[in-house]
Amino acid sequence: MTTEEKVKQYREWVKKCSAYEMALTIIEIDKMTVAPPAGSAYRDERTAILAGELFALQTDPKIVELIRELRDARLDEDTAKMIELENKELDKIINMPQDFFVAFRQLRSNSYTAWLEAKKAKDYRIFEPYLKQLIEYSRKSYEYRQDTRPVYDQMLDDYEPGMTMQDYDVFFAQVKERLVPLIREVTRAKQVRTDFLNREYPVSLQKEFMEEVLSYLRFDPSWGYQNETEHPFTSGTSRNDCRTTTKYLPDNVASAVLSTVHEVGHATYGHDVDEKYDGTIIAHAISSGMHESQSRLFENYLGRTEAFWSVLYPKLQAIFPEQLQGITAKEFTDAVNASSPSLIRTEADELTYPMHIVIRYELEKGLFTGTIGTDGLDQTWNRLYKEYLGVDVPDDSRGILQDVHWSDASFGYFPTYALGSAIAAQVMHTMRQSLDVDECLRTNRFDQIVDWLRENIHHWGGRYQANEILKMVTGEPFNVKYYLDYLEEKYRTLYGIE
Ligand code: ZN
Repeated sequence: MTTEEKVKQYREWVKKCSAYEMALTIIEIDKMTVAPPAGSAYRDERTAILAGELFALQTDPKIVELIRELRDARLDEDTAKMIELENKELDKIINMPQDFFVAFRQLRSNSYTAWLEAKKAKDYRIFEPYLKQLIEYSRKSYEYRQDTRPVYDQMLDDYEPGMTMQDYDVFFAQVKERLVPLIREVTRAKQVRTDFLNREYPVSLQKEFMEEVLSYLRFDPSWGYQNETEHPFTSGTSRNDCRTTTKYLPDNVASAVLSTVHEVGHATYGHDVDEKYDGTIIAHAISSGMHESQSRLFENYLGRTEAFWSVLYPKLQAIFPEQLQGITAKEFTDAVNASSPSLIRTEADELTYPMHIVIRYELEKGLFTGTIGTDGLDQTWNRLYKEYLGVDVPDDSRGILQDVHWSDASFGYFPTYALGSAIAAQVMHTMRQSLDVDECLRTNRFDQIVDWLRENIHHWGGRYQANEILKMVTGEPFNVKYYLDYLEEKYRTLYGIE
């Protein structure tokens, strides 16, 4: 076979895999949004079979041989990158028995159901046996890779290539060093008024406002669709089929909006990846930290600015004239930026947010380096919340059971959330040098910001790693200083701290 024929065969295989992936993605989105719960056992079993079929296709010895051979062939740069990424993925799964893969997938499905039940019952003990098994299975899945690095380092690397416990230890130490004292000062300062955010805001009217938000953000129904879920996420099958979700709270007018701005950041990234990468591994290979940097950039660096609300606030006030009577756009913006140590990560403000991640990072690291067990983990969780954030956890639902991630065995994922915020600060610093961001926001020209991000970052997909993109766009590798300076300046100003 010539190289050309091999590449053709590879491309056909990619297309076939993407057909299975599309089916599995749609089933997953359906499950997380509208599928009736009583059908879960039936659904999960069939889904596991389908996933097993895909696994068999991905590990077909003939295709494995082909991908290994292409590693040494002369290829164009894009195809060479695809083959490099494919080989890295193959190394992860090639020695994993299919039985184990199917069983692990089934365990994750069951665990999600158990997590929902435990969360509803506010009882960690219902979820604990599943968590214990998830950790055992995760450990085992890494043993098959025959990689000598510590398991948790491999997990971190899966979500953010290149990052290790050592890197995150340094990163989180800097975060703690600057933010813990700042959080204390903010807690002691004169508080920002926020009471009007938590009046009664009927969901049907919130939905009306959401149409304005989606249109302002250029989230176009021709390629994107928004649904509702318990725990907002973004998914999709291709660049022209991006799905986001949100969650409405009747006593919080900002929650659904800001979570939507966040998820639309993810969806826009997915939509803006170069067409030629659609359905390929390059489109899928965007690291979690890079993806999160774009959603955080949307949510925090754009969605919480006065310029952003200068267009949208008058519309919000027109929909809720009583609830927001006498409240200016400035007061509203100050309120959505207010900082107060709290229980729920997804509702945390920008300043205290990274501390929620520090807690999860320390627990995960302990679970996989063997210094912490699942037994009594809820107590450890509660103790760390008291220690770092000064809050008492009233029940497991608002404590250890609040996040979906562990039920899916997504260990090593959380740290990328904090990393994403920090990457976003660095990107924003550069963007502001060549684009009048506030002017774009004030004049309803969000598309110009999206254009800048597409041209500089989004269109590449996973063609380059986070640090390579940062060097190309900002001229230097990842630097946490931009993030900490940004937070320091923003919160000192907002709270009038010298
Ligand atoms: Zn996100």
